[in-house]
Amino acid sequence: MADYDYDLFTIGAGSGGVRASRMAASHGAKVAVAEEYRVGGTCVIRGCVPKKLFVYASHVLEDIEDAEGFGWTVEGAKFDWKTLIANKDKEIDRLNGIYIRNLEGSDVEIIEDRAIIKDKHTIHLVNQDRDVTAKVILIATGATPNIHEVPGHELAITSNEAFHLDELPKRVVVAGGGYISVEFAGIFNGLGSDTTLVYRGEEILRGFDDDLRTHLHAEMDKKGVDIRTGVVFERVDKTDDGLAVTLSDGSVIKTDVVMFAIGRNPNSKGLGLENAGVEFEPNGTIKVDAYSKTNVDNIYAVGDVTNRANLTPVAIREGAAFAETVFNKNPVAVDHSCIPTAVFSTPEIGTVGISEEMARQQFGRVDIYKSTFRAMKHTLSGRDEKTLMKIIVDPASDRVLGVHMIGPASGEIIQAVGIAVQMGATKAQFDATVAVHPTAAEELVTMKTPEPQPEAVAAQ
Ligand code: NDP
Repeated sequence: MADYDYDLFTIGAGSGGVRASRMAASHGAKVAVAEEYRVGGTCVIRGCVPKKLFVYASHVLEDIEDAEGFGWTVEGAKFDWKTLIANKDKEIDRLNGIYIRNLEGSDVEIIEDRAIIKDKHTIHLVNQDRDVTAKVILIATGATPNIHEVPGHELAITSNEAFHLDELPKRVVVAGGGYISVEFAGIFNGLGSDTTLVYRGEEILRGFDDDLRTHLHAEMDKKGVDIRTGVVFERVDKTDDGLAVTLSDGSVIKTDVVMFAIGRNPNSKGLGLENAGVEFEPNGTIKVDAYSKTNVDNIYAVGDVTNRANLTPVAIREGAAFAETVFNKNPVAVDHSCIPTAVFSTPEIGTVGISEEMARQQFGRVDIYKSTFRAMKHTLSGRDEKTLMKIIVDPASDRVLGVHMIGPASGEIIQAVGIAVQMGATKAQFDATVAVHPTAAEELVTMKTPEPQPEAVAAQ
């Protein structure tokens, strides 16, 4: 071990890199982590955390509107973007400090610099202009937003900049139909921006259960988001009073801000990976095995740079499994199936397991239990918003294959349901669970009758 400066050198102090570094250190390894921006990574600094704070902010207006039905009169409510940004920044600074203290408390050395691989055991620190050596190198550099290279694309922002806009745009156009796009469309719309979402496909949230996709679309419509599908950007131009987006159908949208949310690219370019012979895909995804090892024996990669399931908790799992495998001599592979996830759209989505479409492909005949209802709160608020819950069951084994829901607190609920689904719970076991009343979630244990099978519907 004395042959190297470090047992482990981690590049990137985001969710995956921090967890891997701390756990490796807890197993006795001498660890350094290099970070060129801020400790905490995308999730903490410019992703999940500030996004969720924005989502809370964007729901307040609806809460105020709903208050009337409960007898409240709220007068003079005003929103101040600068206050939100300042408070959000304060919270991010606090979390950044905690991450730094946790690393230091675990005896992990933090190196604030860009690190480039020179060979399989040597790392060059760019600003400090020095080399260090390590027995094992971990790449945990995350991903960065894609840009649609149409004329005028440089006038657009991505989610990175959306967290630091000087003012709330009066009008905004968001490109993309994935997680970030629907979440930010909900945020801007909820805060009062005139919001348009432009998606190239037929329906937003490709890959999710179709009922979730159409339900979210309908609810976003009701809330006033202008969703344009089947179109792409042709160009973005500067105008006297903002920007103009020209779409492939010839229509022009006048706006103040254009935001691209069209996927993310792994941050693997310019890292010197080729100097060590690390293999990656043309799009930059680093190829790894089940234990996060690259084709080079002592170089590993975790998180979004490996493009497996690009979610913070997954990166954390991969980081922990790597440290356990390499530094505790206990090989652990992360199971990437059955990952519960939430989309913090408005309303919110929670989902675990496979979609109806996938279930029919894999199992042929499946039973679908579905409930669409008005949440109790809205009986008094009068808001026209529906909640959807859906359970997909393999009739042969009675096993629950997927649970999909959209409505308030879906993210919170799906975390608990995810335990049952990944344990292989059956529909009978769901039904045997006593309902919690009055809640929306009780629908999950009270749906008794499956939807008619498609062939029965077709025959009618
Ligand atoms: P997604 O992969 O979720 O969605 C990308 C969207 O952009 C898709 O609708 C895609 O269309 C569209 N798109 C891709 N390329 C183009 C193009 N050239 N022109 C027009 N549209 C295009 O990516 P996001 O950027 O929304 O988010 C990145 C990842 O971050 C997510 O996949 C998720 O893993 C993670 N994330 C998770 C969150 C959470 O857990 N709540 C929140 C935010 C992000 P198509 O469907 O047709 O391919």
